[in-house]
Amino acid sequence: MPLKFYNTLTKQKEIFTSINRDEVRMYTCGPTVYNYTHIGNLRAFVFADVLSRTLKYSGLKVKQIMNITDIGHLTSDADSGDDKMTKGLLREGKTLTLKNMRELAEFYTESFKKDLKTLNIKDPSGMYFASDYVKEDIELIKKLEDKKYTYKTSDGIYFDISKMPDYGVLWGGMRNWNKEGARIVENSEKKNPEDFALWKFNNKIGFESPFGKGFPGWHIECSAMGIKFLGEQFDIHTGGIDLVPTHHTNEIAQSECATGKKPFVRFWIHNEFVDTGGEKMAKSSGNFLKIESLIERKINPIAYRFWLLMANYHTKVSFNWDVLEGSEIALKRLYKLYIELGKKVGKIDINYQKKFKEYLEDDLDTPRALSLLWDLIKDETVSPADKKATILDFDKVLGLGFENLKEEIIPENILKLVGERELARKNKDFKKSDELRDKINSLGYEIKDLSAQAGSSDGPQISKI
Ligand code: AMP
Ligand code: ZN
Repeated sequence: MPLKFYNTLTKQKEIFTSINRDEVRMYTCGPTVYNYTHIGNLRAFVFADVLSRTLKYSGLKVKQIMNITDIGHLTSDADSGDDKMTKGLLREGKTLTLKNMRELAEFYTESFKKDLKTLNIKDPSGMYFASDYVKEDIELIKKLEDKKYTYKTSDGIYFDISKMPDYGVLWGGMRNWNKEGARIVENSEKKNPEDFALWKFNNKIGFESPFGKGFPGWHIECSAMGIKFLGEQFDIHTGGIDLVPTHHTNEIAQSECATGKKPFVRFWIHNEFVDTGGEKMAKSSGNFLKIESLIERKINPIAYRFWLLMANYHTKVSFNWDVLEGSEIALKRLYKLYIELGKKVGKIDINYQKKFKEYLEDDLDTPRALSLLWDLIKDETVSPADKKATILDFDKVLGLGFENLKEEIIPENILKLVGERELARKNKDFKKSDELRDKINSLGYEIKDLSAQAGSSDGPQISKI
């Protein structure tokens, strides 16, 4: 089976081949580090991780680059509003200097890296701060200037989209998309409402440039860094679906017009959003769920990764605590069944491996891959040792952490109390059952009764608090 991915550029599922046979070059838009990363953002990174792991599972070498946006991103994805990093500095009562901006960025980048580790997201081949590549931004803008794609207004240097006949192909050629989305605020000096800033002037804080002091536009960062680390044309670019109409559309425009080469990127692959309904999720409001929020609720963060994999990356998912807790119960059950397979690791079951690969290579069908994992566990024709080897093989892509699972030894006195509580529950003596639960908690263990929804016929799950 060939690898196939849905390409936002062509609006269809296509067979994937890399430009250079021996290596896939992939760029992932990183976070804007003016605040903590929220769990919605992290879907973009779990998705890119699964994509990169799948490419490797298929035998390909992958060079994955990620930028860290530590300058230039305004509150509107287009070019209006405040600078997000400046907002971060003001929020934290720090003076506006480039040094403080960098410190703020480093603080939130460390926290982001911790989140990646917690979610078993593998480090990309390179992760770079945008502020270290301003020279490259300036060079790219100069190239565009030489080719007459730019003009100057009182607040910056702009890209004139009317000079590029196929501007907006990623967005389906809908030149008027912004009329619907109303994301571009009119700027009377712009020649076209969709024109975007390559450089924004700022005489208080910023970098020196031939155009004047200021900051590169957010879009130019990713073009310049993509070209620097992966070349003028590369294979894959990822990001959340919200980046399609502006950020990625403008990356294509700048890059292709500066280099004269089309396409800048062959496969644009985007993840859908995590919708949190009642739970707020905007970094700008400061009120959002982060990995810490899961840990505070004593939920294993891998349950979040597991929950994300239950849906295809094209599907919008609605987060709430109930679904996450359900996913944690199912994950714990999976872990328990895995541990019960014993210590011996046998041989990978080739038939299961073939199917697993087939599902993932079909546009990362993780829901099918997970259901295959459950089938394997239930399959009595496969020996426990071979199941173990096959699960470990699947986990190269799933990243659920089977390899590091250790059997948790529950002390006898706790098991005895759990047994007594089960009996009380059976006899509908809920008062006694609650008292026993409290006692178990006070001894440092928690008990979770598996719901029918998690598909369990087992007893309760006991784990250390
Ligand atoms: P940002 O830190 O805002 O630059 O975003 C980092 C990544 O997270 C980008 O790829 C966004 O498209 C993505 N993203 C932002 N919000 C969500 C969300 N609610 N669900 C999924 N991805 C998101
Ligand atoms: Zn980007």
